[in-house]
Amino acid sequence: MKHVFVWLILGGLLADPAQGQDVARARRTIDTLASATMFGRGYTQGGDKKAAAYIEARFQALGLRPLAAAGYQQPFTLDVNTFPNRVSLAVAGQALAPGLDFIVNPVSGKGAGGGALYFLDTLLFADSPAVAREKFLKTNLNGKIAVFYGRHYYKLLEMPAEFLQHLAQAKAYIGLETKLTMAISPQALGRPWFQVLASRWPLPYANGTVSRQKAKFKLDAQPLVGYATQNVAAQVRGTRQPERYVVFTAHYDHLGGLGRQVYFPGANDNASGVSLLLELAAHFAQNPPPYSVAFIAFSGEEAGLVGSKYYVEHPLFPLRQIRFLLNIDLAGSGDEGIGLVNATVHEAEFARFKQISEANNYFRRILRRGAAANSDHYYFGQAGVRSFFVYTLGGITAYHDVHDRADKIPLTKYAELFGLLRDFSLQLMD
Ligand SMILES: [Zn+2]
Repeated sequence: MKHVFVWLILGGLLADPAQGQDVARARRTIDTLASATMFGRGYTQGGDKKAAAYIEARFQALGLRPLAAAGYQQPFTLDVNTFPNRVSLAVAGQALAPGLDFIVNPVSGKGAGGGALYFLDTLLFADSPAVAREKFLKTNLNGKIAVFYGRHYYKLLEMPAEFLQHLAQAKAYIGLETKLTMAISPQALGRPWFQVLASRWPLPYANGTVSRQKAKFKLDAQPLVGYATQNVAAQVRGTRQPERYVVFTAHYDHLGGLGRQVYFPGANDNASGVSLLLELAAHFAQNPPPYSVAFIAFSGEEAGLVGSKYYVEHPLFPLRQIRFLLNIDLAGSGDEGIGLVNATVHEAEFARFKQISEANNYFRRILRRGAAANSDHYYFGQAGVRSFFVYTLGGITAYHDVHDRADKIPLTKYAELFGLLRDFSLQLMD
């Protein structure tokens, strides 16, 4: 007994600044959210709904109240292009692996078939492209698959209309990329558009010519209009001024899947942030602070901040009651410190934030950033709500790809980030 007691005290001391949060539990949260069952928390195989139900159950188990009278979930709709079924690509008889060797451009349309490869002339993007352009316009692209380098996308968009009309005759597009980075688009174009990792591309780049080599593909793109998804929101009521709020937000959606097997786990982006949101919820449920604390897990972030925009347009309590909002996205490392968006906008709050970090040895480096429309804090800022967006730096290279897996998340400074957000939010209530 005595030993157990000593260990408990020692454990408590060692746990500081981890006090109040539980890294093992956070790991389980991340494992669950990034698992195959949740299928990338996107809009095929019910991924977003499974994740929302899980977060709701966690809020409930922690004893949090719903933020809305109607319940924990706030429904809304979005338009999104999805790839629910067939996804295959073979080049010169070699099958490429979806997710690892290739992905699809988010605006890709559906299609199936095959054709000869036409390698777009890189001279088209040179300083005097006249000759190359003339040659290109004379090449018959009907039934061909146009191949080009991803680094030329923006130059392609600047080409004259005549050029793009000619390119539109191709049956499908293949972009060669140095890294595969998936995204989400609300709509689809008319043609399949694959993005292949250049290091996995099996052929030489036959500049400006139609190759004897062929590609074969199948792709089922399915644009969904008015897909019903949901934010999940809960609260801990304040002990002294419950009408005032500190709000924590983290998006739980990610990029979903590519076909029936491959999914984007989104462990760092943003299962990690949701796990921290839930750890903070657990802490404040046990230790109700002077102000109320709201916890909002947004959907639709990767589709263009759709869930947080909807929330700002349909707030569950008046936005002016928010003292400050803390948005968490990419919380899985911290090896090289943290980034703080809006740090230069809210100088008084930033001074406090930095002071707390220094006094407790939480982070040596805080990258002080200005305003940016890069996560769910953005529309709140537009509506006059003061906020920071915090993200961790270093330690993880995977981003918007199949490698952003739970087993790759170091959680190096998880306890420190928890401590900093807890202490900072309490100071805001002074
Ligand atoms: Zn994110």
